[in-house]
Amino acid sequence: MNNPAVKKFNLSIILTHQCNLRCYYCYESIKNNQAISIDVAKNIICKYLNSEEYDEVEIDFFGGEPFLEFQKIKEICEWVWSQQWKNNFLFFTTTNGTLVHGKIKEWLRRYKNRFWVSVSLDGERQSHNINRNNSFDFIDISFFYECWPSQTVKMTISKETVNNLYNNITYLHSLGFKITGTNFAEGFDWEDTKFKKVVFEQLEKLCKYYIDNPDIEPVPLINMSIFKCEKEKRKTKICGCGELMAAYEPDGRKYPCTFFTPMTFNKEQLSFVDKIDWSDAENFIDEDCFNSCYLEPVCNCCYGANLLRNGKINIRDKSKCELMKVRAVFSAALAAHKLIQNPVDNYEKSLTAKAIQKINILYNTL
Ligand code: SF4
Ligand code: SF4
Ligand code: SF4
Repeated sequence: MNNPAVKKFNLSIILTHQCNLRCYYCYESIKNNQAISIDVAKNIICKYLNSEEYDEVEIDFFGGEPFLEFQKIKEICEWVWSQQWKNNFLFFTTTNGTLVHGKIKEWLRRYKNRFWVSVSLDGERQSHNINRNNSFDFIDISFFYECWPSQTVKMTISKETVNNLYNNITYLHSLGFKITGTNFAEGFDWEDTKFKKVVFEQLEKLCKYYIDNPDIEPVPLINMSIFKCEKEKRKTKICGCGELMAAYEPDGRKYPCTFFTPMTFNKEQLSFVDKIDWSDAENFIDEDCFNSCYLEPVCNCCYGANLLRNGKINIRDKSKCELMKVRAVFSAALAAHKLIQNPVDNYEKSLTAKAIQKINILYNTL
């Protein structure tokens, strides 16, 4: 469990904009040939590892595809590991997995306890190939599980793969993976009622699957913390962008997080981003959602995705509202099953029971 007394900073170093894939939903559309220099990366890392403001720094190598710059990763990490620092740290990266072979694999296996890797997988072969540029057969999936068995995978759901959602999730579970992210791809319109019907059918099957397999941790898609909907409402910012997190571009410039960078937005959009007070939660509240939606406390949004879709950081993507309600219905169904199995009373469970009732009243006509 995270210790709240420990002040943690998330530092993303964008090594390169280049990627060897062209995924269907990739929002990193603005690419250039720049790659970071080792000195620039070392200077940035030094600043944070010696900072008095933090206790722990997670250093994420980001891309594009980070392993296109493997030599730099290797040199930077081995240099950092050879020095003494004030702050604790760990290295992390997310990869498309296709370049992790040969020397890269050897190096990662050697340092698997100091350098954590998450591989992006979108499910079964066919779905993964549709979304991720026919890359399934180029990934040694078992290598990632063997080295980092507790590492979770992130799965993106596209319009083309949503029909196979149940199979894709249960396939990744069958490989042993826990899944922390199951996002509906950003930048697309999910409003069409056909998606609601499909997601309903898929989550209904998934709900039964988790009831039959209680040892498998359910995906967040169907495991929302619905008790939060019954807590007193507070205006909060849901991520640390611009505060406890920063992303550095290959030219050494600092941005609030990896979404708000020149890979996604042009100069004009980013000049507006410069003027935002990231510490003022009011700037991030969608008043319509806050005042009138029961699910607002559990409806995760991304401020970068808001800007991409609506031109404003606080206005959420309403095309996913109906899918959110379906998620709430099955999160409530799963929570109800757990409460029956384990009826021990506590504050969180009493709020969960209230939320189940409310969700059934509000959304039971779906
Ligand atoms: S692997 Fe990542 S960076 Fe590369 S195209 Fe796919 S989503 Fe974009
Ligand atoms: S479900 Fe829709 S209305 Fe509700 S908080 Fe999310 S975006 Fe807003
Ligand atoms: S704005 Fe989006 S991408 Fe950036 S830290 Fe927040 S949730 Fe993550």
